Amino acid sequence: AKEGGRDGYRFYQLEMQADADAKLQMETDLRHALSANEFELYYQPQVDEFGRISGAEALLRWFKKDGEMVSPSEFIPIAEMTGLILPIGEWVIKEAFGQLKKWKQADITPDFRLSINISPYQFDQDNFLETITSLLNESGVSASYVTLEMTEGITVKDIHLTIDKMHALTDLGFKISMDDFGTGYSSLMYLKKLPLSELKVDQSFVRDLHVDQSDAEIAATIIAMAKSLSLDVVAEGVEKESQLSFLTYHGCSVFQGYYFHKPMPAKEMDDLLFRNVVV
Ligand code: C2E
Ligand code: CA
Ligand code: CA
Ligand code: CA
Repeated sequence: AKEGGRDGYRFYQLEMQADADAKLQMETDLRHALSANEFELYYQPQVDEFGRISGAEALLRWFKKDGEMVSPSEFIPIAEMTGLILPIGEWVIKEAFGQLKKWKQADITPDFRLSINISPYQFDQDNFLETITSLLNESGVSASYVTLEMTEGITVKDIHLTIDKMHALTDLGFKISMDDFGTGYSSLMYLKKLPLSELKVDQSFVRDLHVDQSDAEIAATIIAMAKSLSLDVVAEGVEKESQLSFLTYHGCSVFQGYYFHKPMPAKEMDDLLFRNVVV
């Protein structure tokens, strides 16, 4: 057992080193990704209780030169650690506004909304408001069609600053959604203090709700709480009919997940939106 433990430790060290090397390599690659145009936004439709597309969430994709696709859950944490999330996040907002402008000009669905993920690191910057305001003005799109998805990672060090900042965003017309709701530790405090208009039920509660009683209860409770606070509620990660019917029964009316659509390139979303309107 002693021998094994030592070998285990050495193996662990080697793994750590490999891990560190991989992270460093990814940082180097990430630095080039923007200028090399390797990012693309995919869009995942959000569907209402009548099966109509009410909006979409923009999801970042990184296609490296060799064609390899890197998942955002792999590179966003590294982008946040290195500060690269700032230029990347700016690119995301600019690209998403530009795409939304095109969809609005094409006049497909008048009430179509676009959700954009904002990293807590990005939101916490002193110039976040200035940055998003100037991108908004440049794009000529109306903030009233944009939802900003934030997570519970946003800073609570200075909660008053966070609240003021969010109010400034809602004054501009943006809606604010609390993403991955229920996975952080201060959910209830946020609910009370922040000017939110939407909660997203995290997919970790949706995944097993048809088999796991406590997941089912948590999902139902989040929906009930959102409704009693007059917040919109979106369920993510809906893959099965049984999940959909459970969520619907409990009062959720907007859904996102593979059961309906996977995230797709803008062009495919175009086709879907045009089909959506021609009944
Ligand atoms: P998220 O914001 O919670 O996004 C939902 C994730 O669930 C997406 O993963 C989406 O593709 C995936 N998903 C959607 N429907 C289903 C389903 O039915 N089943 C399953 N198993 N998964 C589903 P994705 O695109 O890999 O993104 C992962 C995370 O990366 C996002 O989680 C978000 O936190 C982050 N991310 C993505 N794009 C951006 C971005 O532009 N900026 C920032 N800051 N973060 C982003
Ligand atoms: Ca999200
Ligand atoms: Ca989420
Ligand atoms: Ca998530």
